[in-house]
Amino acid sequence: MAPGGGVCKDVIESHPKTLKYDVATTKTDKSVTRIATGVSGKHGMQSTNGVHELLECPVCSTLMYPPIHQCPNGHTLCSNCKLRVHNCCPTCRLEMGNIRCLALEKVAESLELSCRHQDLGCHDIFPYYSKLKHEQSCRFRPYNCPYAGSECSVTGDIPYLVSHLKDDHNVDMHDGCTFNHRYVKSNPHEVENATWMLTVFNCYGRQFCLHFEAFQLGMAPVYISFLRFMGEDSEAKKFSYSLEVGGYGRKFTWQGVPRSIRDSHRKVRDSQDGLVIPRNMALFFSGGDRQELKLRVSGRIWKEQ
Ligand SMILES: [Zn+2]
Ligand SMILES: [Zn+2]
Ligand SMILES: [Zn+2]
Ligand SMILES: [Zn+2]
Repeated sequence: MAPGGGVCKDVIESHPKTLKYDVATTKTDKSVTRIATGVSGKHGMQSTNGVHELLECPVCSTLMYPPIHQCPNGHTLCSNCKLRVHNCCPTCRLEMGNIRCLALEKVAESLELSCRHQDLGCHDIFPYYSKLKHEQSCRFRPYNCPYAGSECSVTGDIPYLVSHLKDDHNVDMHDGCTFNHRYVKSNPHEVENATWMLTVFNCYGRQFCLHFEAFQLGMAPVYISFLRFMGEDSEAKKFSYSLEVGGYGRKFTWQGVPRSIRDSHRKVRDSQDGLVIPRNMALFFSGGDRQELKLRVSGRIWKEQ
């Protein structure tokens, strides 16, 4: 195919379908419709002048960032989509070549944009290039579901995730800042494998996730229990917690600081930021024939001054 002028026959058949599908499923960046004018205050303005439409990628509908590409007929495309359409213009099907749209890039750079999490409460306005960076750490960005037992892709704010944990994962909810929790596994297979449990505590009007699970620490089978705070790290640091497990005159205690659920369950576990109990001790505490796990983990959450 000749560069610049060729028609990309190979993708013509499948293109219209995938184009529609992409538009319908990947339109997530709502902020493209809100462009601040500088004098409109901090909420930005609903733009009706079409500038935002110019900057919306025709394939994925997200805001285009430089480099912005155009085909020989002037149709623009974001760099991600340029790769995805195999360099073939989705509008006129000419080969894209390597033409930048510098004018549009300049327009893009001159804009001030609202954070994409505006719907969730963020009213900040950003110059074009700071927007993406801010959004990655925006405190209004949705949290991931803290449930660890399966791949769960649900995201949302804390009240939404609390009801999601209760309704969709059947997680136990408890009120109060002290707890005394029994973990019982009578199936030896479960004792040795990825046993994990999650309990949520309501305390000081906030929610804390108590995790308990088995994992391999190097060659050693251990259990770990730790607390995660359903909120930002800066707030998590205002709390402390203690955990205690034992029996027959022996006990392990742990005092720590809850981690924010911004840190994944796996990250916290792998950093061993919690009460780590070697399996043989856990089975000793459980008594009996060492075939079942019967642990009582007690603990307390308090607010640091
Ligand atoms: Zn695109
Ligand atoms: Zn074109
Ligand atoms: Zn924001
Ligand atoms: Zn979930």
